[in-house]
Amino acid sequence: MLRRIIFPLCLIFLVGCTQAPPVALAPTGPIIPVAEAAGMVAPTPPPLTPTLLLPTPTPVEPTRIPTPAPPRVGLQVGHLNADELPDELARFRTSTGARYNDVTEAELNADIARRVQVLLEAEGVLVDLLPATIPPSYAADAFITIHADGSNGTAARGWKVATPWRASRASQQLLAAVAASYGPATGLPEDVGGITVNMRGYYAFNNRRHTHAIARTTPAIIIETGFMTNAADRAVLFGQPDRVARGIAEGILTYLAQRDPHDSAALLPPELPNLRVSADGAVMRVAPNDEARRITNLEPGQRIFALDQRDGWYQIFARDYPSAPGWVRADQVEVSTEPFPFPTTTNP
Ligand SMILES: [Zn+2]
Repeated sequence: MLRRIIFPLCLIFLVGCTQAPPVALAPTGPIIPVAEAAGMVAPTPPPLTPTLLLPTPTPVEPTRIPTPAPPRVGLQVGHLNADELPDELARFRTSTGARYNDVTEAELNADIARRVQVLLEAEGVLVDLLPATIPPSYAADAFITIHADGSNGTAARGWKVATPWRASRASQQLLAAVAASYGPATGLPEDVGGITVNMRGYYAFNNRRHTHAIARTTPAIIIETGFMTNAADRAVLFGQPDRVARGIAEGILTYLAQRDPHDSAALLPPELPNLRVSADGAVMRVAPNDEARRITNLEPGQRIFALDQRDGWYQIFARDYPSAPGWVRADQVEVSTEPFPFPTTTNP
């Protein structure tokens, strides 16, 4: 708990550290449409042949089985070349993340991302290796932003994965797949309950606020691979980076194999109204049922930010409980029509 309070201070402290030289990133080339990249050519329509004039039967061509376009995955190296962020993200130009001795988070993230890239490309996936600045409305079959944690204590450890605030089914499935593969592949513990607003409010997820963000329909997750400030985590992050990369790549490949590429509804984030707690107040619980453990009581009139909706309940975010999305009954809240800001974006 203490860590969550001191961690932002830590970040501020870390920002002041010496700037490492920017890490060179292999050119990824222009973003080209997937179909074009796959060498697919639009089929030529058959010529219109008036049968009366040309009685010759049209030759029957063998049925062509179209080659499926390879999936495209964006791997973002967290904080890489942050000083080149555009004006709309100028406040993150000094956000260099965590560090350990002379190693910056961007250097560690780049090492892991390149290893993931090799594993994905070996399976026929097109990979864009992206710095802190991503192309406007970046579209891909999956977007994974790779980060590592830091703390001003040495005890905090473990990994965690989060989706954007309002997550499509596809983002949730991507998260589940990577979460299932990462722990076993690395042997690292999960930092249970450690997900913060800083992860879900990640700037590159927020296409409402920023141009340089993923497209609304791009499935996305952020992974904190472990703590650079913990010796046991470092033994894996620095000493066995191939395990780290395998943990991420296997999850991505599992997601790509399991998804239904024709299920476009899975890509849509839920559309949810702005909510206020009704006059009688509301109870925030850990799960969408009346027997689930109570997190807190919400005051009448309090604004709440809805993340999801299920079975007459809303999953919500309450500012006083940033690491614990909870659930409220729909009959305990009211739809509000007043302007309602999205939570501010961050760069953990
Ligand atoms: Zn970071």
